Amino acid sequence: MSYFHRNECRVCKKGDLTRILSLGEHPPVDNFIEAGKEQEEMRYPLDVYFCNTCSLVQLLDIVEENELFHGEYAYFSSSSKPLVDHFSKYADDLKKRHTLKSDDLLVDIGSNDGVLLQFFTDTCRVLGIEPSANVADIAREKGIETLDGFFTEKMAKDIVEKHGQAKIITANNVFAHIDDLDEIVRGVKVLLSDDGVFVTESHYLLDLIEHMEFDTVYHEHLCYYSVKPLCYLFERFDMEVSAVERVATHGGSIRVFARKKMGKPIESSVAELLSLEEQAGIHSLSRFVDFQKDAEALRDKLVSVVRGFRKEGKKVTAYGAPAKGNTLLNFCGFTGDDIAYVTDTTPYKIGRLTPGSHIPVVSPDILKTETPDHILLLAWNYRDFILDKETELRKRGAQFIIPIPKVEIV
Ligand SMILES: [Zn+2]
Repeated sequence: MSYFHRNECRVCKKGDLTRILSLGEHPPVDNFIEAGKEQEEMRYPLDVYFCNTCSLVQLLDIVEENELFHGEYAYFSSSSKPLVDHFSKYADDLKKRHTLKSDDLLVDIGSNDGVLLQFFTDTCRVLGIEPSANVADIAREKGIETLDGFFTEKMAKDIVEKHGQAKIITANNVFAHIDDLDEIVRGVKVLLSDDGVFVTESHYLLDLIEHMEFDTVYHEHLCYYSVKPLCYLFERFDMEVSAVERVATHGGSIRVFARKKMGKPIESSVAELLSLEEQAGIHSLSRFVDFQKDAEALRDKLVSVVRGFRKEGKKVTAYGAPAKGNTLLNFCGFTGDDIAYVTDTTPYKIGRLTPGSHIPVVSPDILKTETPDHILLLAWNYRDFILDKETELRKRGAQFIIPIPKVEIV
């Protein structure tokens, strides 16, 4: 088995950890398999833990990186219109908050195809860091200088030598995917100028808990952040969280601004969100005692709805094959007998089977000629966008099943 179990919290390094959710054993969510190779699939425990010291919610079973990523798999952020719109607005927000001069440097860690940096090329110097080479190539074609590889303290030193320190460093939806947070924060400290700001955006634990978004749990997604443990983390490096914002992406995210301690005032947003978290109970274990039971109740409801339709002879399919969709399909124990196929636009996924549930992935073109009775919306975070986009399909009689935050048929 190529995974290991961590015995200490990723943020505070203490060992007082309690399991709050067990989803069973799952294959890595991005490993779509070829037909005939179902037997070779590996499964690993998918359990969520709460740290009784710093309140970080996290996975402790770490699947080795070579099991998680396939060289041929590439996710291009710019292929999703809602995501591009999000980053366009994100760029506007950053420009309003921070005056950037043309010789200032902005570095994006996990820059993908340049989806954020493309909005800054006329404003300041930009540099991307992206481990998947074919994705980085797309950014370079847009004229965005991009380094291959994972961000480390060593890479930070090299960047400073060549380009100087950065006024802004961003890391979006990558900070929750990193096992060795200390290495990243050490690197950020080296790279960041004294008046600079480090901005991370991650899925927000408060939204996850309040809207039952347990399907966002998968092996790549190691931390489920709230503000409290992040304050704890930066404090260890003599840095501080200076401001926080809630944003709507991925079912509810937080944007956290951190900087070196320079004795400047902290925005009231930090105390406000900490207090909201405290009131919601997510700093204490007792808030999570029903999490398992609630997740299982939602699962049982969804399974009975889908299998009920199947008993009536209805055709059920699924829409979108995002990472979280596979957690949901596998937790429900769905197979090709329940769901005839999943439609997705990603070329790598089309023609393969979903991991674990082994449901064929096909191009959305099929929906031009075929009308399933019911379509399970796995990409539920784009609910409004997709329902609007598929008006014609719905007029033909297809009904969508929305799984999260509660099972709904529309
Ligand atoms: Zn901790």
